[in-house]
Amino acid sequence: MDFGIKGRNALVCAASKGLGYGSALALAKEGVHVTITARGAETLEAAAKKIREAAPGVNVKTVAGDITTAEGREQALAAAGEIDILVNNAGGPPPGDFRDWDREHWIKALDANMITPILLVKAVVDKMAARKFGRIVNITSSSVKAPIPVLGLSNGARSGLHGFIAGLSRQVAKDGITINNLLPGRFLTDRLRTTMNKGGTLQGEALEAEIAKQATTVPAGRFGTAEEFGQVCAFLCSVQAAYMTGQNVLLDGGNYPGSF
Ligand code: NAP
Repeated sequence: MDFGIKGRNALVCAASKGLGYGSALALAKEGVHVTITARGAETLEAAAKKIREAAPGVNVKTVAGDITTAEGREQALAAAGEIDILVNNAGGPPPGDFRDWDREHWIKALDANMITPILLVKAVVDKMAARKFGRIVNITSSSVKAPIPVLGLSNGARSGLHGFIAGLSRQVAKDGITINNLLPGRFLTDRLRTTMNKGGTLQGEALEAEIAKQATTVPAGRFGTAEEFGQVCAFLCSVQAAYMTGQNVLLDGGNYPGSF
């Protein structure tokens, strides 16, 4: 299927690895020019090289910086130019017990997983409206739908983003803009590997055995891949998905057990 977005321009945040990278790759394969960001320049350049190889003819720009800072956002927006597609993403907050978190922990989580995406939406949405086309996808978490107790910072901050997006998406729908949240369940990225290595105690075969064991708990019998996550993200950015907005799209191999 041709997604009808060839030649469009995307900013994909936090995209040197994992779900952001998968999204940038899938968009580039659809002929979308991508600007990708991450803090670590070396991994970011390696990611850009892989995308260029997979999608010849597409412009791939890189911006090394922290997207949760004003400077990082300004640099990313300036490099990307006229943005038709925005994919919001950043690292998730750490797990823990809410009794150990003070105001600073909450502000950090809100900055990364609620305020940063809202400010980036604010920076692009009126320009998208003027051009009568825009696609915004927020990478969040299945923990918004089914909260994970140790991820209280994530549950709280991301729920705030979802609430805001639910309202805004209806305000801009008539301007050809869709805003949707893409909620990953468990995808085998570096982040998931890190959370499964039990504080670095599991390595090599022991880690792989733990990953295989945990994967059987997902109804699909496996963890998702960054590539398949990216392909769903690209679909949400397609012309075919023009009538789909304000939705929370769960991508979890059947893990969420409810009917709705
Ligand atoms: P990942 O494999 O660790 O990749 C994270 C990417 O984001 C890297 O490119 C990283 O590069 C970049 N990044 C992190 N913080 C950044 C910042 N402040 N500014 C710019 N770039 C930043 O993680 P992932 O699994 O793809 O997770 C992506 C998001 O999905 C996270 O918020 C995570 O909590 C959420 N999520 C993931 C899963 C899963 O199963 N994987 C499930 C639910 C939710 P640098 O470190 O170099 O900046």
